[in-house]
Amino acid sequence: MFRFFLCSLLLVVTLTASAQKDTIQIYVSTHLADSNTFEITMDWPLNPAAVQDIKLPVWTPGYYQLMPYSKGIQRLSITDKSGRPLQWQVTGDHSWRIATKREKQIRIRYQYKTERSFVATSYIDDKRAFIRPTSLFFYGDNYLDLPVKIKLELRPGWNRVATGLDSIAPETYVASSMDQVYDSPLLMGKLTELPSFSLEGKQHRFIGYEMGSFDGALLMKQLEKIILATGRLMGEYPYKHYTFIGIGPGNGGIEQLNSTAISFTGDEFNKGGKRTLSFLAHEYFHHYNVKRIRPIELGPFDYSKANRTNSLWVSEGLTVYYESILLYRAGLLNRQDVIRQWQQMIERYENNPGRFNQSLAASSRDTWEDGPFGKRGETISFYEKGPIIGLLLDLEIRSSTQNKKSLDDLMRHLYYTYYKAEGRGFTEAELKAACEKIAGKNLDELFSLIYTTKPIDYGTYFSKAGLIFQLIPNQAKPENRVQFTENPNASAAEKQILTVFFQ
Ligand SMILES: [Zn+2]
Repeated sequence: MFRFFLCSLLLVVTLTASAQKDTIQIYVSTHLADSNTFEITMDWPLNPAAVQDIKLPVWTPGYYQLMPYSKGIQRLSITDKSGRPLQWQVTGDHSWRIATKREKQIRIRYQYKTERSFVATSYIDDKRAFIRPTSLFFYGDNYLDLPVKIKLELRPGWNRVATGLDSIAPETYVASSMDQVYDSPLLMGKLTELPSFSLEGKQHRFIGYEMGSFDGALLMKQLEKIILATGRLMGEYPYKHYTFIGIGPGNGGIEQLNSTAISFTGDEFNKGGKRTLSFLAHEYFHHYNVKRIRPIELGPFDYSKANRTNSLWVSEGLTVYYESILLYRAGLLNRQDVIRQWQQMIERYENNPGRFNQSLAASSRDTWEDGPFGKRGETISFYEKGPIIGLLLDLEIRSSTQNKKSLDDLMRHLYYTYYKAEGRGFTEAELKAACEKIAGKNLDELFSLIYTTKPIDYGTYFSKAGLIFQLIPNQAKPENRVQFTENPNASAAEKQILTVFFQ
């Protein structure tokens, strides 16, 4: 049995613009920032024929974990256009049903209490607010395609908003659908912007909160080289503009179609290593690989449940694999750096007993239970085995085509065939067929490494690239070490693989 609640009218109506026909209007107030609380109004046009269920997503695309987003909802009130309360009932952890008659529009008002600054959650305090739209805004199955207008009310002294959405007026943004809203986080507050740059007329911006003190101009110069190398690989920049959104100190990043929200400070960049650039390259490359090139299960999204796929090793693993390649092509890593990264990624995998328990496909499918990086020791991570399979596949394609093709051709094939021409994701069978077509050979053996836990015969794959692979037991620590040496007896064709790779 469901209990019906009468909503209250405790909140003062602050929305000035009335809802336009068939547009969802969202108004976000930050005046309760001191209590870490957003105040939100959604004006929603109704289709009288539909069941009026409203829902909050249970996950965020890019972060494959169930999230208790609805816990933040407080003081929910639903009225008709004139302010008359409507009855509603809770129908699940993330869903509500509204009893309507012939209303053409409803107003949903609520507060949302936030607790934690993280890329997959919304957060507000008196210095900044980050909106992860999946956590904060309701949707309806019949209303995902409606255009949306978002109006933000900023606190005094807050100077900027960072988002991938287009602005039509100060602090006012539009989206063609709720899917686009869910793909477009917004950061506002006292923010800093690094020097932007344009490539092929597309502006690339980097805006962040509390980024610290570092050489922002140098970072952007190096980032431009990475984005140039990525554009050369894929052939085009498929957006009008792109924004890096730095939400402050912490860990993690989530990719969107024309933005990425990242935990970021310049501290790591100041140390002179390349981890920051690898991280940025990773998040940036995702706008091709996973946002556009995607397993068929990942879109259109079902926001009401876990969206399982066997293929996160492609979306995440190959993205990790391309980090060092893109930095190398941008002139930011040398050949030894790249080979060292190969060694390290194999060591991480080979020193994890979880490799005997879980296949790569299963690590993708089970990530909703195992966590984003697996349970080290018990299971594996597609972030670790995925790039290894990417490397083996790349070497296999290069070797079997006498360097005429590479993994680059696979990425372009998936992008131009399934995303651009067919507007959909790829199936596992289509992926294997594409790999085999490009390599010109059967790849059952290599693909068995994705679906089973059998040991990887590294020696055979690396010998095709003129390398001797050794797994050396380490006496000092209970961890094995990987070593590559160039094989002086390799054939000219074998030696040519790495020569072309590092051209
Ligand atoms: Zn990623």
